[in-house]
Amino acid sequence: MQIPIVRPELGDTEVAAVAGVIRSGWVAQGPEVAAFESELASAVGASHAVAVSSCTSALELILRALGVGLGDDVVTVSHSFIATANAVVAVGARPIFVDIDPATCGMDAGLLEAALTPKTRAILCVHQLGFPCDLPEILEIAGRRAIPVIEDAACAIGSEIRVSGAWQAIGRPHGLAACFSFHPRKVITTGDGGMITTADEALAARLRQLRQHAMSVSSTIRHDSQRVVFESFSEPAYNFRMTDMQAAMGRTQLARLAQTIATRRALAECYRTALDDHPIVAPPRELPWMRANFQSYPLRIRPGARLSQVEIMQHLLDRGVASRRGVGNAHAEPAYANTPWSCGPAPCDAQLHRQGRCLRLRQSEEARDQTIMLPLFHGMTEEEQEHVVAALKALPA
Ligand SMILES: *Cc1c(COP(=O)(O)O)cnc(C)c1O
Repeated sequence: MQIPIVRPELGDTEVAAVAGVIRSGWVAQGPEVAAFESELASAVGASHAVAVSSCTSALELILRALGVGLGDDVVTVSHSFIATANAVVAVGARPIFVDIDPATCGMDAGLLEAALTPKTRAILCVHQLGFPCDLPEILEIAGRRAIPVIEDAACAIGSEIRVSGAWQAIGRPHGLAACFSFHPRKVITTGDGGMITTADEALAARLRQLRQHAMSVSSTIRHDSQRVVFESFSEPAYNFRMTDMQAAMGRTQLARLAQTIATRRALAECYRTALDDHPIVAPPRELPWMRANFQSYPLRIRPGARLSQVEIMQHLLDRGVASRRGVGNAHAEPAYANTPWSCGPAPCDAQLHRQGRCLRLRQSEEARDQTIMLPLFHGMTEEEQEHVVAALKALPA
């Protein structure tokens, strides 16, 4: 039996939806994108949603729309897919990395205040692996300094957080804006694609402009116009558009999101009961205020376990089970050896930094090195899941 880390749930519904778009003759950003935007906005309880080509472009676009650029700082986490830090660098700003709280895999809110500098123009927090980060605390600290909070919700479509006693979807948004990804590793996929949700109408309008070269009229308006329309371009901007084929795919998956999440949560619960007292690895725990979509299923190697991450992963691979190590850390990647970043106001160990290590980012480094992600996808069969569990139970103690 071969079990991949993920198998996207794609079928005849997606094929029919995309075929319909192709037959319509309008394949670029158009009516399907507009419909996907409004359906996603209402699914998460946001007033506006703006579709883009990826979550990476979503992050870059929102930073650009906020005017974040050269000489500015953005406080974020290193422990994320590298796109989070790259978006900050792409607009010319410097990432300030805060360590994570291992209980959430997201920003440790207790370290946030000390990481703010006079140049901090935004806080970019991450709902890592679909587990909500400690938003209420982050928003409270940011609010005191009037710093906008952007949520990297790439993995978190369908996740929920309890705010002031009520369950709310991630993406509502709670900060100024939330950014989603529709890469095949995520819960909804359009091949590639992204979405920004916000309650700010003017900001949404600005994002729509910037994603399409800051063009004065959209292609659809020009196409439908009975009078000759000339476009103009008010500032240098981007092509970050989603296509109508992608949006049609996304709409079919969004329509069954509730079912998808229920299935994923049931699979996660099966893993949890089977692995709760495993001697070597520990299943993830949801805190009382979070409902994860289980975009990933991260196991933590128990302290003192005699097997290494690589040994466990190889053992699984030998039994046909794909796995992945924990989320990476931007500060440890060669790309950041010569890219300016900081881990707080006081100087740290520059020599270590050049080697991709940081004394203040210990939890981030540990989470990468002591975590193993298991296969979990909506089409996973009982037999497949039992095979994964059996492989883990066969680990030499
Ligand atoms: C996947 C991911 C991204 C990047 O999303 P793309 O749509 O592939 O650009 C950004 N941040 C996090 C946390 C992710 O997991």
